[in-house]
Parts: sequence; C-alpha cells; structure tokens
Amino acid sequence: FLSEKSAKIFVAGHRGLVGSAIVRKLLSLGFTNLLLRTHAELDLTRQSDVESFFAAEKPSYVIVAAAKVGGIHANNTYPAEFIAINLQIQTNVIDSAFRYGVKKLLFLGSSCIYPKFAPQPIPENALLTGPLEPTNEWYAIAKIAGIKMCQAYQIQYKFNAISGMPTNLYGPNDNFHPENSHVLPALMRRFHEAKVNGAKEVVVWGTGSPLREFLHVDDLADAVVFMMDEYDGLEHLNVGSGKEVSIKELAELVKEVVGFEGELVWDSSKPDGTPRKLMDSSKLAGLGWRAKIELRDGLADTYKWYLENVKQCW
Ligand code: GDP
Repeated sequence: FLSEKSAKIFVAGHRGLVGSAIVRKLLSLGFTNLLLRTHAELDLTRQSDVESFFAAEKPSYVIVAAAKVGGIHANNTYPAEFIAINLQIQTNVIDSAFRYGVKKLLFLGSSCIYPKFAPQPIPENALLTGPLEPTNEWYAIAKIAGIKMCQAYQIQYKFNAISGMPTNLYGPNDNFHPENSHVLPALMRRFHEAKVNGAKEVVVWGTGSPLREFLHVDDLADAVVFMMDEYDGLEHLNVGSGKEVSIKELAELVKEVVGFEGELVWDSSKPDGTPRKLMDSSKLAGLGWRAKIELRDGLADTYKWYLENVKQCW
C-alpha cells in the first residue's frame, strides 16, 4: 500500500473526525490520488448511487470512515438512525468495493462493539460473548455486522476486507455539539464557553467514576495506514492508546487546558454508561504499531483547533 502513492483511494466520510485525519495523513505521506465525495455529492445510504460511483471510479483501495456517530445521549435519542444508517452505509460500500475490484478495504468501528462487562483490557475475542451496553447497542450491532461482513467476504470471496476498532477518539473536526457529542468535545466546549462567559460552575454528567481510554485521531490515522500496509488478517484489530483516565480526571485535564477556573458540578441524573472501557491493543502492538500522542498534548492540539474553528462548531 505504502509504495502505491498514485493508487486511487476512496476515503468514505472524509469530512468527519476520522476521515479528515486519514486524508491529512495520506496527503502528508505523498498519496496523490484520493477520491473524496461529500454527503451532498454521494449519499452512501443509497445503494444504486454507491454502485454507480464504484462502477465509474473503480478505486483500488477503500477506507470506510463514514458513519452516523454520537455520544451517549444521541445514541439513546436516535436509535433507529444509528442502526439503519450505519448498516446501509457499510453494506453498500463493502459490497460495491468487492464487486468493482477493490484490492483492499479497511472498515472502522468502535470499542462499543464489545459486551458491557467484557474482561478489561478488552481483547478482540471478547466480541459476541455477552450483552452490549444498552445505551449504544444500536450503533454497536451495526458495527458488529460490518466486521462480520468483512470476514464473510474474505472467507467466501477472498476479498481483502479488514477491520479496525478504535477506542474513544478525539481531535480536530470532532463534533462539539453540546448535547449530542462525546464527553471530550462536550467538556471542551462547555469549559470554553464558561471561561468566555465568566461562569463559576460547569456541569459534568454522571458520577465521574467511569474509566475511558482516549486516542488522538492522528494516531488512529497512523494505525490505519499501518494496517493497510501490513495486516491482511480475518480478525478485527483493536486500536487504542493503552492508557485510561476517569471522567473526573479527564474533566480536570480539559478544564486545565482550556483555562477555566471555576468549579465542576456533577449531574448524577445523567447516565454513566459502561463503567470501564479499555481495549487490549497488544495484537497491533505485536505487529509493531503504537500510539504516540499523549492525552495532554492531544487536548492542547484539539483546543487550538477549536479556537481557530469555533464559529463552525455551532
Ligand atoms: P461512551 O464512552 O460511549 O459512554 O460515550 P460518551 O463520550 O458520551 O460518555 C462517556 C462518559 O462521560 C459517560 O460516563 C458520561 O456520563 C460522561 N460525561 C460527562 N459529561 C459529559 C458530557 O457533557 N457529554 C457526554 N457525552 N458525556 C459526558
């Protein structure tokens, strides 16, 4: 993969958090032939549009970073959209990629595919060993179907379709919506607005005790390129930083990076979600890949982006 700098690569979802990081990474490595379509140009939920696109463009490589994503509140509020849109996008893209001769496809999911009470750190083989966390099972079921579809196409059609499951991601181009985003961008925005407005308190959801692992999206993009180049296995691979923090520690760190000086108020009427979610990324580490960006540095980088792009965020 790395030696084919002029190969046509379709990055589905290139304007999102993940897709935009992958595009930055590919461009920085000297790839010259990226195939990109906005949502308005190509609606990936429409099967015939996706087929026509692949028939006309015939990309050599496909990275599936297009998905309907959101935090705990969005998943709870829009369950139908989370399952239906994700199933549609991935089914259309994976199937068309196979039919139109794509050499290799990488499908991205998330750590919420694993059972709520999976062993920690969570190994790849914990998949389908227990009930899911109910707040995001709609999204999780779609992503599990995507992994299984890649495996089925590998087995039956010898289509080189692999999957990577990143832990909680953050970075430039994240969704900073106050209600529907994930914890890290939600807190960054809330602390920023509190600082600007001179507020004395910021509300943080839940108890602060859940543990989460965070990975800067530039590290994920690096892992995606690594997997495209090095990995052809049937099993999906976890992509994590290996480091976990409590939501309380995260909130304190974001507060510090943003420079908010007031108090935190915990709203325990909001759900905590799963108590702990650390991935076992030792398989990927065994192949030679490791995350490089420290959380504090990544937060500073993300806040810098937020300040430069703040008007686009609402
Ligand atoms: P999860 O990792 O799938 O549970 O998704 P989230 O990123 O939405 O939530 C992670 C944890 O952060 C949960 O325990 C939330 O209750 C907590 N949290 C604290 N404040 C916020 C907030 O403002 N927004 C979100 N989304 N989560 C928050």
